Amino acid sequence: MKVALVGIGKIALDQHVPAITAAADWELAATCSRHGAVEGVAAYSDFAALLAERPDIPVISLCLPPVPRFAYAAAALQAGRHVMLEKPPGATLAEVHELQAMAAARGLTLFTTWHSRMAQAVEPARAWLAGKVVTAARITWREDVRKWHPGQDWVFEPGGMGVFDPGINALSILTHILPAPVHLTGAELDFPANRQTPIAARLQFSGGVSADFDWRQTGPQTWDIKVETPEGSLALRMGGNRLEIDGEPAGGADTIMGEYPALYARMADLVARGQSDVDLAPMVHVADALTLGRRNTVAAFEF
Ligand code: NAP
Repeated sequence: MKVALVGIGKIALDQHVPAITAAADWELAATCSRHGAVEGVAAYSDFAALLAERPDIPVISLCLPPVPRFAYAAAALQAGRHVMLEKPPGATLAEVHELQAMAAARGLTLFTTWHSRMAQAVEPARAWLAGKVVTAARITWREDVRKWHPGQDWVFEPGGMGVFDPGINALSILTHILPAPVHLTGAELDFPANRQTPIAARLQFSGGVSADFDWRQTGPQTWDIKVETPEGSLALRMGGNRLEIDGEPAGGADTIMGEYPALYARMADLVARGQSDVDLAPMVHVADALTLGRRNTVAAFEF
């Protein structure tokens, strides 16, 4: 299946291009970006021109930041194309609901991807927790924004979500593996004095679940989720890629390279079945944290 990739930046080049290139059933037929391109692939800078001139490309994969994404997604759906959205799927919940209705009305596929749900140990963790009672869970997601988002000022602009940009990956795993839903009960958000989005957040949920997100972590990086049950404890480490049960290694592998191939395989399956996959549960928790959160002002941040 031919796909056009829109927004040729960090994630497009790090993950989407290698995943598409390696997949037997996908062909990277065009790109659309104001500055970026992929060698040997037809490059457009005008999205309307791509849609008009390339009716042979049925799938559009949008890799640009969340705020500009809606206009591209709406245009693609209006032009009869199936659409894959990077995470978080939009700048607001309502705009994604609108896209969902547009796709449904046209019989097109809309896939709100959550790459962390494709991490190696997430399905085994979900299977282990199925039918169990969760008594507590703790997310620790601490990374260095300068390493993972070098110079990307959009993450600190309205709609960029700040530390929730990585934190939503943890929430995408949490909402997938817990056997029963939880809801946010409180949050504390640290906003740099010169920025519009938080650089750190501490969240409390019902059911003894909590999260610690911090973008100021230098040295070792931590992407862990620990879950307690009366029958034992589970830990997901390395962003959902390694599993431990009661402190002992229980599967997975220390690599994120399987996540994007799995997303494209899922998209191919959804298109073949004529289905959509739209899950906003992780983004609901972020919206709730921004609604309910207590705001602290912390030191100004510069890249
Ligand atoms: P990025 O490199 O800053 O942006 C991707 C590209 O989008 C840019 O190179 C730019 O290309 C285009 N773009 C930026 N602003 C635009 C605008 N206002 N209008 C049109 N195009 C615009 O960001 P990224 O790190 O790839 O992240 C993109 C998405 O992927 C985000 O939603 C992020 O959460 C998700 N993601 C990122 C990572 C990561 O490690 N960085 C991991 C997983 C998922 P042109 O200037 O060439 O148009």
